[in-house]
Amino acid sequence: MRRNLVDHHGRIIDYLRISITDLCNFRCVYCRPPQGVKLVPHSDILRYEEILRIASAAGNLGIRKVRVTGGEPLVRRGVLDFISRLTSEIGFEDVALTTNGSRLSEMAMGLSQAGLRRVNISLDTLRRDSFVAITGTDELEKVLRGIDSCFEVGFDPIKLNVVLLKGVNEADIPEFAKLTLSKPIDVRFIERMPFGVDMPPADSPDSFSALDAIKIVERAFGNLTPTERSRQDGPARMYKIDGAQGRIGVIDPVTGHFCATCNRLRLTARGSLRPCLLSPTEIDMKSFLRALPDDEQIEMYIRTAVLAKPASRFSSIKKINIGMNSIGG
Ligand code: SAM
Ligand code: SF4
Repeated sequence: MRRNLVDHHGRIIDYLRISITDLCNFRCVYCRPPQGVKLVPHSDILRYEEILRIASAAGNLGIRKVRVTGGEPLVRRGVLDFISRLTSEIGFEDVALTTNGSRLSEMAMGLSQAGLRRVNISLDTLRRDSFVAITGTDELEKVLRGIDSCFEVGFDPIKLNVVLLKGVNEADIPEFAKLTLSKPIDVRFIERMPFGVDMPPADSPDSFSALDAIKIVERAFGNLTPTERSRQDGPARMYKIDGAQGRIGVIDPVTGHFCATCNRLRLTARGSLRPCLLSPTEIDMKSFLRALPDDEQIEMYIRTAVLAKPASRFSSIKKINIGMNSIGG
């Protein structure tokens, strides 16, 4: 019989985001904590075996979808085998990956053979100088080749995540939107969340909202048409330019408050379950696991994490003093 995990607010929790590393080969300005990234001893990071035990227990309880993220997940050794075990050993049908794209040109085929079907690539600009300024690396060409490789191996859907950066990537918005005309790609504009910085209030001229991005696209391409909602769209509201192959989406964590439809838990690389992206509450699975609990106990802790999910946290958030790199997005 199919089981469901339901939280105290009536939400079905069927999605687990797994961060497999804190490390990253990029240094995106909006992602790192203000105090810098602390190197964590290897032994503090969950081993793949440990992650698989938690994922398997989560699958028994009703988790249907898993996303592998980081830091940069493709820099951790053994990631292909890990994904293959998620799909074939545990049998998750919906396994996705979020990556900065820098390793995709050489890894897309292996990922596909491991059973991955869906990929989100984070890319905030199509201009080399801005790319260097945002990420601290000069790898735009590699990321673009990585996106091409995703089309070659047939990932579907392929999504681009574009974080809206005031004064930095406004000019890129129409260029990103244009990609959807000729390619079956979802380009999603995401409001920047206040990791490590004080964000301007949403109604200030310094904010860059999802609505601003939509207006820029509509000025360039005419009115957008909303598309029918699908579960795969997550918190994004999706639109289409008339005649386009792909879609444009917006994710508005700052102005939109979508907690009512939250369906997820997060497992950090250091082995904690995080009931809410924006709440500091964490449940330390690593210590429990290493004390050799049985699978029933692991399930109990997962249920505890689900029941610890707050109804909403956005209204109380002005600034978050950890980096997204350690939560996994
Ligand atoms: N390294 C991978 C990548 O960049 O796709 C995976 C990890 S990254 C933390 C996951 C997602 O979080 C990326 O799409 C990134 O753009 C997003 N992200 C990071 N910091 C953010 C912020 N302050 N506001 C909104 N999104 C953010
Ligand atoms: Fe690395 Fe992704 Fe964070 Fe950029 S957004 S620093 S690529 S983890």
